[in-house]
Amino acid sequence: METHHEYSENWNIDQNQYNKNYLETKEILESIKNTYPEVVKKFPMRSTPYYLSLINWDDEADPIAKMVIPSQDELNYKDIGTITHEHDNTKLFGLQHKYDQTALILVSNECASYCRYCFRKRFVGLHQKEIMHNFEKAVEYIKDHPEINNVLLSGGDPLILSNQNIKRILELLDELPQLKFIRIGSKVPVTFPSRITNDPELLDILKDYSKPNRRIHLQTHFNHPKEITKESISAIDALISANVLIQNQSVLLRGVNDDPKILAELLNSLVGIGVNPYYVFQCRPFTYKPSAFQVPLWEGIDIINEARKYLNGQSKRFKFCMSHATGKIEIIGKMGDEILFKYHQSKYPENHNKIFTRKLPKDEVWLWEHT
Ligand code: SF4
Repeated sequence: METHHEYSENWNIDQNQYNKNYLETKEILESIKNTYPEVVKKFPMRSTPYYLSLINWDDEADPIAKMVIPSQDELNYKDIGTITHEHDNTKLFGLQHKYDQTALILVSNECASYCRYCFRKRFVGLHQKEIMHNFEKAVEYIKDHPEINNVLLSGGDPLILSNQNIKRILELLDELPQLKFIRIGSKVPVTFPSRITNDPELLDILKDYSKPNRRIHLQTHFNHPKEITKESISAIDALISANVLIQNQSVLLRGVNDDPKILAELLNSLVGIGVNPYYVFQCRPFTYKPSAFQVPLWEGIDIINEARKYLNGQSKRFKFCMSHATGKIEIIGKMGDEILFKYHQSKYPENHNKIFTRKLPKDEVWLWEHT
């Protein structure tokens, strides 16, 4: 599908405000790409001048840099993608149907900024083989499956598409009375907020299709308090004014938000700006070798529990989950020398609400057994 016209070609993003940044960051970006030519050939690098401007280049441990700057380590990743088992749920190119009620539709393979930990590294920024090219076919599939009551538009990032494409998709979905709500997964409010604040046409489209009886929910992806800026707050505010409801999915990431106080500050601040903490995800592996971003499960439980001490009822409504091949598995906590889990969403009926324990090594980052 066609991408948003202001993006990628000329980096024409809020030039007045970011002109200086624009030139500096473009230079930085080129120099980074030249430093990691082999890595970026395999896993592309992209970001926006705005997002790169949040990096403190004097800080070697800068969390934004950790999320967007490639590392040599990525060359060691093997068997990318098969481990997610997403293909098992793919019913049409670009449409996954894992849970009865939800159709997940991949509408773009591009994002404003590529996260180095992305579990869809297998195609994001690379090729369009896994995305939906003929949305009418998706509509037919949904009509044939009356159990589907919501659609999650994902990718890549749907808000990277042109307004015309976004409108067409929402228009087609609007014709399906079985849908109770529509979800858009997008990191654009975090990485490219001017795409929202400078585009009244996009906001009008979202407002038109976020109807009182069928709201659009936007699931965004803030990971660190540094991402909550006046620009991203304005983007959230504009979305709220367009009647879009907003939730956040963070990923627990080593060197980014694996400090309970930082995580708590993020979650409390999100509630403050009108974004509901929805999930904190255990970092989903895309290769059998743990990446530098993954925090062991035992340690993750401690971080989440400690963070909860600084949260109120509103900011602790999130679930700490693994988005697993078999379902969303909540990581409830420790019981003696075992970890307690519960299926929050299950692909298989026999696992619905199932609670189970596992004895896992202290450095284990995932539950491999069902995959
Ligand atoms: S924004 Fe989402 S889809 Fe895009 S690279 Fe980041 S995690 Fe992956």
